[in-house]
Amino acid sequence: MKKNKSFKKKDEGRRVSNVQERPHNAKKADYAKVNGGVFVYTKPISVAELSAAINVPATAIIKYLFLQGKGVTINQILDDETIGLVCLQFNYDFKKEKLVDAEHFEEIEIQDDPKDLKERGPVVTIMGHVDHGKTSIIDAIRHSDLASHEAGGISQAIGAYQREVHGKKITIIDTPGHAAFTAMRARGASVTDICVLVVAADDGVMPQTLEAIDHAKAAGCEIIVAVNKMDKPGANPRHVKEQLLSHEIVAEDYGGDVMFVEVSAKTGAGIPDLLDAIALKAEMLELKANPSRYAMGTVLEANLDKGEGPKATLLIQNGTLKTGDSVVVGEIYGKIRRMTNEYGQVVKSAGPSTPVSVIGLSAVPAAGDRFMTFANEKEARDIAEKRALAKKAQALAGTSAMSLEDLNNLVSQGEIQTINVIIKADTDGAAEALKHSLEKLANDQIKIKVISAAAGAISDNDVTLASASGAIIYGFNIRPDARVRQKAEEEHVEIRLHRIIYELIDEMTALMKGMYKAELVEKVTGQAEVRTLFKVSKIGTIAGCYVTIGSIKANSKVRVLRDGQIVYEGELASLKRFKDDAKEVKQGYECGLNISNFNDIKEGDIVEGYEMVEKEED
Ligand code: GDP
Repeated sequence: MKKNKSFKKKDEGRRVSNVQERPHNAKKADYAKVNGGVFVYTKPISVAELSAAINVPATAIIKYLFLQGKGVTINQILDDETIGLVCLQFNYDFKKEKLVDAEHFEEIEIQDDPKDLKERGPVVTIMGHVDHGKTSIIDAIRHSDLASHEAGGISQAIGAYQREVHGKKITIIDTPGHAAFTAMRARGASVTDICVLVVAADDGVMPQTLEAIDHAKAAGCEIIVAVNKMDKPGANPRHVKEQLLSHEIVAEDYGGDVMFVEVSAKTGAGIPDLLDAIALKAEMLELKANPSRYAMGTVLEANLDKGEGPKATLLIQNGTLKTGDSVVVGEIYGKIRRMTNEYGQVVKSAGPSTPVSVIGLSAVPAAGDRFMTFANEKEARDIAEKRALAKKAQALAGTSAMSLEDLNNLVSQGEIQTINVIIKADTDGAAEALKHSLEKLANDQIKIKVISAAAGAISDNDVTLASASGAIIYGFNIRPDARVRQKAEEEHVEIRLHRIIYELIDEMTALMKGMYKAELVEKVTGQAEVRTLFKVSKIGTIAGCYVTIGSIKANSKVRVLRDGQIVYEGELASLKRFKDDAKEVKQGYECGLNISNFNDIKEGDIVEGYEMVEKEED
């Protein structure tokens, strides 16, 4: 087929240019556009629309698809795969863009023109077991920075600081530990590029060391190990390396790619090496951002200052924030009145990876809230207002849980590609075996990411980790205690319990196909004996009962038993204690009940209450 001259050749200007100078606005967005040889669309379109957009006669498209075995008509809506086929045939790159309106700016996929991208410093979080020296290392790094002391700044706690290493800046989040880190991730914020895992050389790998590894891996950040307290007589860095081997943290001299740096936060020995390692890792990661776009980032800390009002530390992750900018932070509007750095010095603008303390917000945001600047005050105010309303509505509706059912729906709609899983089992061997079996299930469409697999009871921390990473928890041959169950319920984390490996595997297989169906089983809540009957006009027969076992609940299903035979199954129309409606009446109490559409109840009948619940594997 002769190629139309107006088609761009494949290797000519293939990139999407900086189309995201401002967030997509649903109202303004085209359904399709051709941008430098790339056909960008937001929803499936018809043959006629595609033809107009890429300037290829509809007949040519129809003919081509016909030859591919796909008969289509001019007004037929094409699926993504077919759009792709046509574009490739007619020498266009193609790209489906998610339509995100400005109100949901967190979801914007940033696409900067590579020529606008500039190197940015790494953002580093320090994690590890309690007392292994996280705070001491954060301080040692801060104090080893002679240059900034000479600059005369007095260091202030704003949640993060920057440190120069060989002329390049690294940003250190100065809240140690993974609690803050996980809390942020639970809110969808991910700020860290590199995690420094602190392990005391005299103590070795401890439970929170492993938790920190899980958190870092789940967040997809790089790990550098700082083996601390090297000044202590019992220091044994080799032992630390060996211990971490079995957790897939493999040192370079053991053939892996994780840098281990021996330090002493107490004497300061090794701290420059740690900084070098961070700088080297950052270089390898080729971290980039576009300083000339609207600023976006995350709130690290916020509080109400008596004199200055709401005050927040913002970490700029892309773009440049300037004094006077109109911002939306979480659901709050603000106009940046003043920005200061970690030395309390006023700055007029702050670029990628820079933490700044700002005033000018209309209220105090929460740590982990995302922010973005907007073109003008009105737009920012409108968006903040809409977000506040949406948040209220969401709070009223309850949060959306990542239940098995939700995951299943997302899988069947093709919305997710990875299922995150946390495994807890009675033995290490079982945990490992399950991990391998589950990971092996991965196919082209869906991966299974085992965030953590360990022996032991399901803990609070597992639930927090699951909630932060939208994971489900599989318990094998173990039972969570009531407290953990309650926490999981509060955080909408699904815990699945199994005793037979293949049943667990079957469940996951069904889930991956989007074909999971919860198996419902009947659970009897209790029984009541009918002692007297009242006829009430308009309502029907009220049975005066005595609850003999368990309880009868107003919203449960009931069946009527007479001489051991079921005579009716249905629902309660009302349940009362004396004159008042009751939700539940327990064993040993009397109640009056009326069964929907059933008045043939007799003295001596047994009313059995039951519910349909998800089957638990015991
Ligand atoms: P964190 O809980 O991990 O933040 O640990 P800290 O930084 O609070 O340190 C715990 C204890 O270990 C403190 O008493 C520190 O003085 C001590 N410590 C920290 N780093 C070193 C070190 O390199 N050498 C020695 N000898 N002690 C240290």
